[in-house]
Amino acid sequence: MSNAPGYLYLPGFNINTEQNLYYERHDAVRAYARANALDRIVVRSTRDRIGIVAAGKTFTDVRQALRELGYDDHALNAAGIRLLKIGLLCPMDPEIVREFAHGLSDIIVVEEKRDFLERQIGRVVCDLGTPVRIVGKFDERGKPLFPIQGAMDFDFIADTLWGVLAQRVAPPEAARHRARRLETIAKRTSVASLRRSLNFCSGCPHNIGVRLAEGQVAWGSPGCHIFAALSPEPTRRIEAVTQFGGEGLPWIGLAPFTSRKHIVQNVGDGGLFHSAYFNIRAAVSAGVSITFKILYNGAIANTGGQASVSARTIPEIAQLLATDRIVRIAVITKDRRTYRSVDLPSNTIVREPGDMEAVLKEFEAVNGVTVVIYDGQCANERRRQQKRGKLPTPTQFTIVQRMCARIAARAARSPIACRCKR
Ligand code: SF4
Repeated sequence: MSNAPGYLYLPGFNINTEQNLYYERHDAVRAYARANALDRIVVRSTRDRIGIVAAGKTFTDVRQALRELGYDDHALNAAGIRLLKIGLLCPMDPEIVREFAHGLSDIIVVEEKRDFLERQIGRVVCDLGTPVRIVGKFDERGKPLFPIQGAMDFDFIADTLWGVLAQRVAPPEAARHRARRLETIAKRTSVASLRRSLNFCSGCPHNIGVRLAEGQVAWGSPGCHIFAALSPEPTRRIEAVTQFGGEGLPWIGLAPFTSRKHIVQNVGDGGLFHSAYFNIRAAVSAGVSITFKILYNGAIANTGGQASVSARTIPEIAQLLATDRIVRIAVITKDRRTYRSVDLPSNTIVREPGDMEAVLKEFEAVNGVTVVIYDGQCANERRRQQKRGKLPTPTQFTIVQRMCARIAARAARSPIACRCKR
């Protein structure tokens, strides 16, 4: 512990806080959970042999899955199945687990992601002195059961529970019927295989904003522009993704160890105002060559269009960037007239979307940090504002239509002329 002047040294303070947290506060939380019945044994009988545990939304899915399998409360009692709904995940109350596990031979833990509940339950059950088999992430033979990755819906839970329960209790007729129905569906060969691929909304500025010049490599970060990671077009694709707030930072570490001299880092304006602005300054200090492409759509679009806290206008950002020794700045806009009488730094150019590739190629040759600001409003947010009367309603529409050959042939024979452009 440092004794340097100005350093606040409180002997034992942290240790006391830790002790207070894990003994007194955790005990108080568990007592609160008990007093308010946050954890509840929802279904039970005296003959139960099997217990199912889940928390939160997963518990609701488990209930729905069991109903689908024909297990209402009466059938659960008849089959000897007990249900525990956990409301307090951590610190878990060992008392409710002991009460729940009493008399059971098997516990099935249903939870998404890691085995957070399963490990805590296992530790309590271990001390009971009676053998209780716990399955969750893996079954009793060590085969994966409820996955660590992704999410689970009630269909998946129903299938998996059916597999586990069928080995332990005689399943009701509804469960057999459902299994037969699913088998029939699986055997169908004519199931439509049409899939809608992931893409930006119609009119989204990122359609152009994420474009690259040939041979360039772009990285992304959380935000709608991350869809570019799945783009089949190399001139739009992002190759790697940082965490929110980490935009560009890995390049500072990587740049000295690779033959590549430059990358493009996409940054949403939400990310920029949250924290990524400091990454631009860090890149300047590190002396790396990078182009930060700020996709300025005016909203935190992929979480519902909230406004960015501490947002600045594009001219204000350009002024700040120039103060922070950014070598070149480009503002790309559909309407250059809006920037005609705007005060921009001397190293800033204003270009149109069609110039994106040329600007990026030019900036790639620059030694140091450059910034492209793509000025394009989120199309979803624009539609919202139009509906609320905050923006004028559009008066011109373009209809893009593609007909199947059979309908097109019929239309061609029709005496009514179609005026749309095909
Ligand atoms: S929500 Fe807005 S920014 Fe996101 S994909 Fe749609 S139009 Fe683009």
